[in-house]
Amino acid sequence: MTSAPEGTGAARSETSGDSGAEQHAVGVIVARQGRLPVGADETVGAAGGSVVVIGSGAEAAAEKICGPAPRNAIRVRWADTGLAFRPGCLAESLAPVVEPFPLVVLPASPDGRDLAPRLAAVLERPLVARAVLARSRAGGGVHALATRLDDRILVPIDIAGPAVVTIVGATGSRAIRGTRQASSPAGTTKVSPLDLELDTGSSSGRTHVHDAELVGLLEPDLHTMDLADASRVFSGGAGLARGLDDVQATRIFDLLGEVAAALGGSAGATRVATDAGWTDYQRQIGTTGVTLDPELYVAFGVSGASQHVGGIGSPDHLVSVNIDPSAPMTAMADLGIVTDARRLLVALAGRLGIDVPPGVEDDQESTRG
Ligand SMILES: Cc1cc2nc3c(=O)[nH]c(=O)nc-3n(C[C@H](O)[C@H](O)[C@H](O)COP(=O)(O)OP(=O)(O)OC[C@H]3O[C@@H](n4cnc5c(N)ncnc54)[C@H](O)[C@@H]3O)c2cc1C
Repeated sequence: MTSAPEGTGAARSETSGDSGAEQHAVGVIVARQGRLPVGADETVGAAGGSVVVIGSGAEAAAEKICGPAPRNAIRVRWADTGLAFRPGCLAESLAPVVEPFPLVVLPASPDGRDLAPRLAAVLERPLVARAVLARSRAGGGVHALATRLDDRILVPIDIAGPAVVTIVGATGSRAIRGTRQASSPAGTTKVSPLDLELDTGSSSGRTHVHDAELVGLLEPDLHTMDLADASRVFSGGAGLARGLDDVQATRIFDLLGEVAAALGGSAGATRVATDAGWTDYQRQIGTTGVTLDPELYVAFGVSGASQHVGGIGSPDHLVSVNIDPSAPMTAMADLGIVTDARRLLVALAGRLGIDVPPGVEDDQESTRG
């Protein structure tokens, strides 16, 4: 896989800031109940700090995107459109707002992927899907690096004129993480409401016959949802299964999933656990697994190796349960609980009324040094 050139500040616009200088890029981010989608930080970077936040809870999401680092938005406009918007109508309404910018970037999130092609169609611009880097070039063109073949290769794409680009969230690649480095001088952030009247098709003369309509909103299944989208992650490492055979270890990881779901979260794991087959590879967090952006991350018997920590993002709250008070994960945690991880998980399950599978109950062996 090719990597982005060092120091490109991937996806940076050539000018940025709110200083009156000409701005060449803008980001459009759809929030859900105030929560930013995966890829929002990268979109801020791609847009040189200038973004429009829409969706539900847009004002709260706009505040979040201003900081702390690595979020570096410097000019944020927001309009609460709710979530029941029709993407075609929304694209019509947004078009005049983003039209002056040669580069329009959106996260490659489900909402971003829904809106981006419609916006490109209304603006009559090409769409580059799934880029890790995008920047406007002198003369009004756009350069992007798009990921293809399941992220195995990066393909450079040069467009002579303006374009719409969707940006993928960090997946552990340094090239992608670079997009988070959009520079913004401290104290210059400006957040303001955007007066966005939702186009119903009448003013533009379009009927939106092919527009999508929201018929219902289904919450994700916490057991199977993409970990990258989970706001609470309870992860298990070798310490959680210490002293158990593979069958028992699989059961304790199943129990971790039940406890996580009961507390509104999803279960993750270290590579030791996935390599051993105690849980699926989709649950693996780290440089060779999923990269998270959770509000809460709780580690049960996880040492905190760099390859694992590289995937946990910047959780608002980090809890480590480990018998070793000097474990790196405990050292970096907001709350370190020095105790046996399995004993604590089983106690939690009991409190939550979850049946504990046979053979995983407290085992004195696991608590020995
Ligand atoms: C190229 C490469 C890529 C890698 N990619 C990844 C990756 O993407 N994700 C990943 O996770 N790893 C990855 N690894 C592996 C990584 O280096 C570590 O080996 C792994 O993260 C350690 O997992 P662990 O914390 O579960 O196990 P360990 O390092 O064995 O730690 C177990 C922890 O449990 C604690 N413990 C023991 N008993 C108990 C108990 N009873 N109660 C509570 N705590 C207890 C111990 O004190 C220790 O801190 C990669 C390695 C390489 C070489």
